[in-house]
Amino acid sequence: MERVLKELFGLDSFRPKQKEIITSILEGKNTLGILPTGSGKSLCYQIPALVLEGTTIVISPLISLMQDQVEALLENNIEAAYINSNMTAKNQAVVEARLRNGELKILYVAPERFNNRTFLNILEQINVPLVAFDEAHCISKWGHDFRPSYQEVIPIIEEKLPNADYIALTATATEDVEENIIELLSINKENIFKTSVKRDNLKLSVDLTFQREQFILKYIAEHKNTPGIIYVSTRKDAEKLGGFLYDNDIDNVIYHAGLKKSEREYNQNAFVSGQKNIIVATNAFGMGIDKRNIRFIIHYNLPGDIESYYQEIGRAGRDGQLSECILLSNSRDVMLQQFFIERSNATEEQKENMRLKLERMIQYNKTTKCLSSFIIKYFNPDEYVENCGMCSNCQREDKTIDITEESKHIIGLINTISLPVEKTIQVLRGEQAENIIHTELPEHPYFGKLSRYQPSDVHHIIDELVMSGYLHLSNDMLSVPLLGNEILEGKTKMHSVPFRRQFKELVNVSTDT
Ligand code: ADP
Repeated sequence: MERVLKELFGLDSFRPKQKEIITSILEGKNTLGILPTGSGKSLCYQIPALVLEGTTIVISPLISLMQDQVEALLENNIEAAYINSNMTAKNQAVVEARLRNGELKILYVAPERFNNRTFLNILEQINVPLVAFDEAHCISKWGHDFRPSYQEVIPIIEEKLPNADYIALTATATEDVEENIIELLSINKENIFKTSVKRDNLKLSVDLTFQREQFILKYIAEHKNTPGIIYVSTRKDAEKLGGFLYDNDIDNVIYHAGLKKSEREYNQNAFVSGQKNIIVATNAFGMGIDKRNIRFIIHYNLPGDIESYYQEIGRAGRDGQLSECILLSNSRDVMLQQFFIERSNATEEQKENMRLKLERMIQYNKTTKCLSSFIIKYFNPDEYVENCGMCSNCQREDKTIDITEESKHIIGLINTISLPVEKTIQVLRGEQAENIIHTELPEHPYFGKLSRYQPSDVHHIIDELVMSGYLHLSNDMLSVPLLGNEILEGKTKMHSVPFRRQFKELVNVSTDT
């Protein structure tokens, strides 16, 4: 494994989780890897493909991504190819022959290829030790980019390649998507490997300005000669904003799916090569773009979900240098996203899921808490996070308040009895409500410990504790994870931004920011 890394890829050491994922595959276990964009997911199936006998099949959603991957492998003298319906019949036949003869170590295909009879016939005759699902979130109907064709290949693979193991890789999987993927691909929980979605060099900001165009003009004036992407939601906005910037002497190119292919390629190259610094684009732009010095990503509109937002801002700062990701929005954006949802041909169940995802995106736009923590918690509610200290919310001038004592009462109560959020608030406030007085709860030592507080105050502290990983919330039931003891035992203090003037007067104002 290490020899292949050095000799074939010319790399010195593994990045986090690469070795664990590769080992798991080589031990013959179906495996899921959730690693951020740019962290080296491809290597996780490429090394096993070279170590194992036979041809590894990689399922990938985008033809342009396949081409890039294959070119990079060929440069390292690795026998790789792709096959897709854009190729001439003759070229497809050449790849098919090489596949049949066992000449390929790695073959990239789109999921649709599994509807091709010739391809399936060959699969039955050859040795395929491993099937890799790249961008595996596309398998899950709870993912933000569900592709039914991705899911439809699973029974075909089970039938045609009963001995193959599976590796699934993605950068963006929420808990429900993760559960869906491991169920569909028969992956055991022990064989999930993930690193934090945290990106330390991204400074996140939300700006609720009504004057988005002026904001952008000012920002670009203050960041001259700096490469950046401005994302918009519609083709029309790309044209309009691109034109507006141009009229204000800001050279830029635009990118959306309505442009001619040659125009798209020209504009993309102009941006990637550094000839133009600014690109105004819809979400059609970005997949597979390898430009390492993108210094800012401004969203002119609110995206539809956190996954899309995270994926789009993930293109900034690939070189590790500090980069800014600014979310602007307009009240009409929510309606536009709702329109996209209603118009889509998803099932009602999926639409409901999309509406919930949009709701979380709106929460991100409104939250007063650490933005970086918000995103980390969205993907991994159990991860311990500290405020980043750098995002627009962390940087606000407001002094924070010490809520350690209140937190101790909440965690103390939940440590003895798991309760829903509303009931927790009622018990701590000592409410004489019907659903409380006929139980043993009024006898509980924590009953009424926070009687001075409004329900919304207690709710806020519970939210903060859940956000920071000191309380766990699942199906509306609160429980205390191990980390909660840190607060109970006084090892950690809890702070919050002031959220209500009266509340501020109840607790000590500390000088921590
Ligand atoms: P992802 O699919 O996670 O977005 P890639 O697989 O495209 O990322 O890898 C991103 C870059 O990181 C590639 O240029 C790759 O060569 C490089 N890379 C991957 N693994 C390592 C490693 N262990 N050491 C150094 N560079 C690596």
